[in-house]
Amino acid sequence: MRMILLGPPGAGKGTQAEAAVKRFGAVHISSGDMLRENVKSRTELGLAAEKYMNAGQLVTDGIIFGMMRERLERDDVRPGFILDGFPRNIAQAEELDSLLNEMGLGIDVVVLLEISDDAVVARLGGRRVCSVCGAIYNVVGHSTKKEGVCDLCGGSVIQRGDDVESVIRDRLALYHAKTSQLVEYYERAGLLRRIDASGPTDAILACLDPQRDGV
Ligand code: AMP
Repeated sequence: MRMILLGPPGAGKGTQAEAAVKRFGAVHISSGDMLRENVKSRTELGLAAEKYMNAGQLVTDGIIFGMMRERLERDDVRPGFILDGFPRNIAQAEELDSLLNEMGLGIDVVVLLEISDDAVVARLGGRRVCSVCGAIYNVVGHSTKKEGVCDLCGGSVIQRGDDVESVIRDRLALYHAKTSQLVEYYERAGLLRRIDASGPTDAILACLDPQRDGV
């Protein structure tokens, strides 16, 4: 199965993708995670991307195209993939189409996770992540047992630099300005499926089932 997950930051794309990967067997490709790994290991790509990320802006298409092309050409994506965070604008969607064309592949479904801006601000403002293993917590409802310490690995639990409210608002504005054009793009292609992302995880996963609607 080859799927694109769309939706604003905080809609739960990463969480849904991980659950869907376990259920359907496909690799999860998160452009944001790939960029953060590059920033952490101080690669040339990471250094070029960091200033955009901390400001809540999109990294340039040139950086993203190279990174995604290299990733999608690896053998492990052949059985299927779930793209999370890419494409983010029309130019990236067109680049993805031409890359997949070259590979003789296509997208099966594009899932749009819908959620209000206020719900995103509440969710992301409370999000905390383990700086070592990446486990995700929230100060509301899913906090660590010991403050600031990961339950799973004991690493320090931090707030992402781009999860502060002013940056969240900037990221949402950018989503509405750019990424939401993709909804029309994939609707026209007959690939779009909308899901209410404020619901329970199981309901969302059921909607993602590729057997549904014969996808
Ligand atoms: P995310 O984890 O998907 O919210 O991504 C975190 C940050 O990485 C974004 O705010 C952007 O700065 C950058 N980023 C991730 N994916 C892309 C993309 N496809 N195009 C441009 N920038 C991206």
